[in-house]
Amino acid sequence: MKLLDPKPEIMARQRKIIEGLRALLPQRAIIADHISLKPYETDGLSAYRQMPLAVVLPEDESQVVAIMKFCAAEGVRVIPRGAGTSLSGGALPLADAIVVGMMRMNRILEINYADRYAVVQPGVTNIAITKAVEEQKFFYAPDPSSQLACMIGGNVAMNSGGAHCLKYGVTANNLLGLRLVTLTGDVLEIGGKHADAAGYDWLGLITGSEGQLGIFSEITVRILASPEGARAMLVGFSANEIAGACVDAIISSGIIPVALEFMDRPAIHACEAFAHAGYPLDAEALLIIEVEGSEAEQTEMLGRIREICERFHPVSLRVSETAEESAAIWKGRKGAFGAVGRISPDYLCMDGTIPTSRLAEVLRRIGEMSASYGLQVANIFHAGDGNLHPLIMFDANNPESFGKAEAFGADILRLCVEAGGCLTGEHGVGIEKRDLMPTQFSAAELAQMRRVKSAFDPDWLLNPAKVFPLC
Ligand SMILES: Cc1cc2nc3c(=O)[nH]c(=O)nc-3n(C[C@H](O)[C@H](O)[C@H](O)COP(=O)(O)OP(=O)(O)OC[C@H]3O[C@@H](n4cnc5c(N)ncnc54)[C@H](O)[C@@H]3O)c2cc1C
Repeated sequence: MKLLDPKPEIMARQRKIIEGLRALLPQRAIIADHISLKPYETDGLSAYRQMPLAVVLPEDESQVVAIMKFCAAEGVRVIPRGAGTSLSGGALPLADAIVVGMMRMNRILEINYADRYAVVQPGVTNIAITKAVEEQKFFYAPDPSSQLACMIGGNVAMNSGGAHCLKYGVTANNLLGLRLVTLTGDVLEIGGKHADAAGYDWLGLITGSEGQLGIFSEITVRILASPEGARAMLVGFSANEIAGACVDAIISSGIIPVALEFMDRPAIHACEAFAHAGYPLDAEALLIIEVEGSEAEQTEMLGRIREICERFHPVSLRVSETAEESAAIWKGRKGAFGAVGRISPDYLCMDGTIPTSRLAEVLRRIGEMSASYGLQVANIFHAGDGNLHPLIMFDANNPESFGKAEAFGADILRLCVEAGGCLTGEHGVGIEKRDLMPTQFSAAELAQMRRVKSAFDPDWLLNPAKVFPLC
């Protein structure tokens, strides 16, 4: 076995930790050789890489308990990991940490249609929940674009969202309960199988905790009855600002479509080349607006939305007529990150939220920043809830280009806060936004949050060096 670090004291510590883990877990649960560790050195924020000491892959809750007790006793840092799709570096290892990969805990344990919940292990993928219940005409609502890969444990840790969260809310709104393994090896039952659990709102505290308070070993989510049908509308505009103003008009009219997505010109072209979804190539900005319900409800809502869109003189407007057409529209949108990956060697996917009333102005300012940094940006985002995802294109082989991309991204996030929004929409803080936290929170607020973490993890062993600014 090739150990990671040639320094004798680190090699000795690594050997001791691996030996300790071997005494607790089956051989197949431990990865310690250089080649097999390689896939774990990064996550969706692939500009950052760091090999861990080792990776462990528990197969049940008792193994998670054993790992946590061992790490607490030995002072070993722990990085929980789902599928590793975090775009903020949430699952990025540290050199002196072990990664606890939850992918082997991937069973659906219980489905209850009468009380509308599913109990699953944390390594179940997001899409697998809907797949398991769709025959009975149910679904799990939060739908991150990464839903084929990302796991429900990661979704809870990041409080993930998706295109259809405008109507159904994000993970926090669709979560009923979980089992949390703490560093002391205790298993806490938080929430339950029904809404409004007794006591403190611990579920609210744990959701979005980015692997810093404990490891989820079981998760209970709400499942919903599928709508009768859904239809998507594609509306092209001659400028980003006009599309932004149209989003504001739709939302402020009180209509809640099930999804309201935005793409600018670079995104439209990249996605069309990728998915052949029939996106209008003469538009500067495109809205995908989806409504659902009975035929009559869809027709009524589409009529009201069309009326609002027409006030903004769209350059094109098309309503999908078939399920296949709707699927193609979503294939384009859900493949957007991959599509931009085909036109740029690298990109940073930013994630901030603003009030929808500020969309037009913020998009204009992002355009100005793009010109002054000399870096192209594609805007693809969940416009209905003001969740921006500017994709900043750069070349990672050029350190100057990467530095500029990070500075541009930080400026966008500062702009979100300045516009009355928030540093994170749905991707969490991770390492990406860690140092920007003081733009959103006061010193007293950050100190109180640190005290909450310390209450669960007094020695800061759980996913440290994330979320909180280092200085
Ligand atoms: C192409 C692409 C598209 C994306 N689209 C979206 C989108 O539309 N919406 C969205 O919200 N996000 C999106 N993401 C981001 C990402 O998929 C989400 O943050 C997702 O929830 C991460 O899940 P994961 O299983 O990959 O977790 P990981 O990346 O492995 O981990 C994420 C965080 O969760 C913690 N964690 C993981 N499992 C556990 C556990 N069992 N217990 C405690 N902590 C745990 C980790 O420590 C880490 O802090 C996208 C990412 C990609 C690459």
